[in-house]
Amino acid sequence: MLPSSRIPRARIDLSALRHNLGVIRRAAPGTRVMAVIKANAYGHGMVAAAMALGDADAFAVARLEEAIELRAAGVGHPLVLLEGAFNAAQLTQAAQLGLELVVHDGSQLDMLETTAIAHRFIIWVKLDTGMNRLGFRIAELAGVWQRLRALAAPPLEMRLMTHLARADEPDAALTAQQLQRFRAAHSTLAGTVVTSVANSPGIFGGAARQGEWVRPGIALYGVSPFADRSASALGLRPVMSFESAVIALHDVARGETVGYGGAWRAARDSRVAIIAAGYADGVPRQLPNGTPLLVGAQRAPLAGRVSMDMTAVDVTDLPQVRVGTNAVLWGPDLPAEDVAAAAGTIAYELLSRLGRRVQREYSDE
Ligand SMILES: *Cc1c(COP(=O)(O)O)cnc(C)c1O
Repeated sequence: MLPSSRIPRARIDLSALRHNLGVIRRAAPGTRVMAVIKANAYGHGMVAAAMALGDADAFAVARLEEAIELRAAGVGHPLVLLEGAFNAAQLTQAAQLGLELVVHDGSQLDMLETTAIAHRFIIWVKLDTGMNRLGFRIAELAGVWQRLRALAAPPLEMRLMTHLARADEPDAALTAQQLQRFRAAHSTLAGTVVTSVANSPGIFGGAARQGEWVRPGIALYGVSPFADRSASALGLRPVMSFESAVIALHDVARGETVGYGGAWRAARDSRVAIIAAGYADGVPRQLPNGTPLLVGAQRAPLAGRVSMDMTAVDVTDLPQVRVGTNAVLWGPDLPAEDVAAAAGTIAYELLSRLGRRVQREYSDE
């Protein structure tokens, strides 16, 4: 019989989320933490994550809609809009919601100048020190600073930030270069200017002491930002367990195939279990045959193509498996990092693409 709990489901351990915030604070002593909860808190549920992380000093999101949802849920923390406002209407709303704005492009300066807003923002000026994604060139900084100062409603405070492109790699020359450029640019500004540099790999990779604020995302969720160091080695606890159940079992004769394209062929008389979780739920379709899943807490190899709502596994060697047996796609005993690697991607993508229809179930022990 199938269990009465929803399948598939993502069990979210809020105490692990808080534990990871503590680990981050110890890795970045003396800094303030802007917890990055964009993209539905990397799939974990943004409002629930914000509630559990009440000890964070601020929250960061990518888009205005995310900030609106947080304010509507009663989150009163400082909220940083990482991509800034996209148009004048957003700027007005950002002012009403008391958001902190990242300003990374000249068009956003133009907008601040032409939109008559009395609100005095806290503004994070984003410098491009080598990522070449968002941010002003270092040579532009003085001009940007001046234009912000000259606004009709000048910023309450102007801060400086940058983003690291290769902090997840040991001893990347680019990281040292970015830090050096950032320090040099910072030193040209008069007075005390608060700064922020480190994302999760920056925090654990040694950039944590650069600046007053750190911006952890993935580490909060108990995932290692490094290819060569596990989450447990960093003291982090996985927050999500993505689970489903076996909904059918088939005996497949040697030589028969399973699923679309006949992509898996039985090398012996086999037993195949069908799990109710597919790519519409966030199981990557790229997973190859043989990728381990947990069925009844035992490893079982994936058999055939992941389909939209289902995934098949070879349970020939697990005679105790029944319809209703629990299955884990990733979780504390099957790191999302490993599953992501099998799919040729990173855990960031797996978590943030967890399907809408996957019920999030929260626990807090
Ligand atoms: C998403 C994001 C982060 C968080 O990065 P992690 O690698 O998940 O820690 C930090 N800063 C900025 C600007 C971001 O966009």
